[in-house]
Amino acid sequence: MSVIKDVIDKVKQTDPDQPEFHQAVEEVLETLEPTTKRHPEFVKANIYERIVEPERAMHFRVPWVDDKGKVIVNRGFRVQFNNAIGPFKGGLRFHPSVNLGIIKFLGFEQVFKNSLTTLPMGGGKGGTDFDPKGKSDGEVMRFCQAFMRELFRHIGPECDVPAGDIGVGGREIGYLFGYYKKIRNEHTGVLTGKSLEYGGSLVRPEATGYGTTYFAAEMLATRGLDFKNKIVAISGAGNVAQYAVEKVNQLGGKVITLCDSSATIIDEKGIDAKKCDYVIELKNVKRGRIKEYADKYKSACFEGMSVWDVIREQGIKVDIALPCATQNELDGINAAALVKNGCYCVAEGANMPSTPDAVKIFQENNVLYGPGKAANAGGVATSGLEMSQNSMKLSWTREEVDNRLLLIMKSIHKSCIETAEAYGRKGDYVTGANIAGFTKVARAMLAYGVV
Ligand code: NDP
Repeated sequence: MSVIKDVIDKVKQTDPDQPEFHQAVEEVLETLEPTTKRHPEFVKANIYERIVEPERAMHFRVPWVDDKGKVIVNRGFRVQFNNAIGPFKGGLRFHPSVNLGIIKFLGFEQVFKNSLTTLPMGGGKGGTDFDPKGKSDGEVMRFCQAFMRELFRHIGPECDVPAGDIGVGGREIGYLFGYYKKIRNEHTGVLTGKSLEYGGSLVRPEATGYGTTYFAAEMLATRGLDFKNKIVAISGAGNVAQYAVEKVNQLGGKVITLCDSSATIIDEKGIDAKKCDYVIELKNVKRGRIKEYADKYKSACFEGMSVWDVIREQGIKVDIALPCATQNELDGINAAALVKNGCYCVAEGANMPSTPDAVKIFQENNVLYGPGKAANAGGVATSGLEMSQNSMKLSWTREEVDNRLLLIMKSIHKSCIETAEAYGRKGDYVTGANIAGFTKVARAMLAYGVV
């Protein structure tokens, strides 16, 4: 039996209730098979089994008081997955679906993603089943304070640096950082995604969406193509989706879709810069629903359906797809419909948005397919740039950060292409990203001996 299969089987047996974690481990490890031959030293040191086990995982109680005076209890998690190449680094997710398995899948992905950025960051992830939707600002603040009351003892600028993810944007980072600063009595770069006034970096809010679009542009360029006049489908309407729309517009493409968990809107005329600003205001300030876009701009609205369902059912032509909502949002049936409708490029802004069936369909049909750990690494890369600026007590200009982001995305793309080729898998971004991300971490783990 192969080492890889043994490890996958063991993960499934040990934690049978963590399907998303199994999916992420299987997807990565299966592509690492050729490294077992090329690097017998990794096998000897049992790196494959060691890398799927987090360094440590915290699970804690978060009691807080709602506006009616009722005591509510939520669950908090922080999984410190791997710090071989730098301090643990990865976002916090606030969403009712959060459980240990989901945080482990995200933390595991983060290890390889952070390695790919070329910056010295290990991988971690955290979150809670608290749902900020429909809560008052006061409730969100009290929850964030209660969450930080436990989290503070596990994090630090040289140890573990959280950031945002689903349900955690500028407002939440402000409350979390403010409370950390208060109870630790120190103003350090312990979180990224901060506002500019208190240590944030220019371009951090835009970075994941911009980076995903830059990555897609690099993939397109390998076939002599670009975004000009292309029809683009984007899912989600949050942080990643908003700035993917902005960048696609700047590169000359036409975005025709967005969604939230209640509805999908289709705007055949294109979500231009002005409409994009409206979405940013609607979601980040008014905290409204995407359906309101359809009311304002008289576009089509499909309640209870995902972007990918609507594209399939309506037979909408799409050149490029950027899934930017959540894991497993795009399945095999919808992937086949996308390909049938002309889609030839998929870059993942979200983490693991395509199911294994969908990935197979993209690869079999020669679609340019950029997996999340490569395509959405611009967010954490710019968080790394925020950490550098915090350490140096300096702020770089917008142009400087954006240029560095672009260079990092180009370098990730190059590293995927070259690694895939070196392993005889030309054009396979999944294999390229996984092996390139893994090799650096594995070498560092080897250097430390058995620790
Ligand atoms: P946000 O919370 O800002 O936005 C998420 C968006 O996706 C919301 O519009 C949300 O709708 C929608 N959504 C969530 N679940 C579903 C669902 N089941 N069906 C349809 N729509 C859904 O999160 P982000 O934009 O930050 O994150 C989006 C994805 O990108 C996640 O996978 C995240 O892990 C990944 N990512 C984020 C990074 C970042 O820097 N923020 C970095 C790298 C990856 P609703 O408002 O109704 O919940």
